[in-house]
Amino acid sequence: MWNPLVAEMVTAGAVMLELWDRVLSPRQRAGLAEGFAAESEQSARLVAAFLAGASRLGHASPPHMVAFGAGQQLSPAGEKARADWQEQALRSGLPLPPAGARVRHAAPEHIAAAVLPRLTGCDCTGYVDGERCRDREHHGLYVAAYALNRHGADALHADTVARAYRATGGPAWDAVRAALVDAVAHHVGLDARSLPRLIRPTDPARLTAFGRLVSQSNGLSQGDASHGFASPHDTREAVSERARLHAQQAVSRMLVA
Ligand SMILES: [Zn+2]
Repeated sequence: MWNPLVAEMVTAGAVMLELWDRVLSPRQRAGLAEGFAAESEQSARLVAAFLAGASRLGHASPPHMVAFGAGQQLSPAGEKARADWQEQALRSGLPLPPAGARVRHAAPEHIAAAVLPRLTGCDCTGYVDGERCRDREHHGLYVAAYALNRHGADALHADTVARAYRATGGPAWDAVRAALVDAVAHHVGLDARSLPRLIRPTDPARLTAFGRLVSQSNGLSQGDASHGFASPHDTREAVSERARLHAQQAVSRMLVA
């Protein structure tokens, strides 16, 4: 099922690649690769781009999609994207509370932390509500997911993640998020479930610079939906191509300013 979030997520990944290649110094790149304990700088580059795109995953949940576009000044293309999405969601039976209904709320970054490890290689059974598994190979997935959108030095508490998990909407929404994660992975050129082989971060504090880059990538990726960027008729290639172009231009503008 098409989701309008895909364009902004893929674009955030594309922006991270541009920042990595054109803005970061060799020393900064090496520092990020070290923070990730990546097998190579190239692995760190791809994973950084993938995670920048995936960082918006929490928006693909009932509390955030019910109000999709509400209160925003949408262009005619944006209005169309909203109508297309709602129609598809309804038709495919995606559980969606009616507009205005009370919805269990959670911050998108907490929802992302609750669901991302499961989509990036942790398939351990017996852990519920976004609980961290005990597999040492998967430890880095949780460190990376918890470091996304981290505000300052606040560590994300397990209770917060468990509460956020209750706002994720269930299996039908899991499928929506899995498709979004796969779209970002496809754009970047990696297999989302291969993350445990590519990175092994252990210390969230060493991902602070990365967290700032994620915010920057998201900031520079915004504005596509309101410019007619998102359409359910776009192919993956068209979405990727436009994301690359948008990212190039956004980073060029930033460098000139
Ligand atoms: Zn696991």
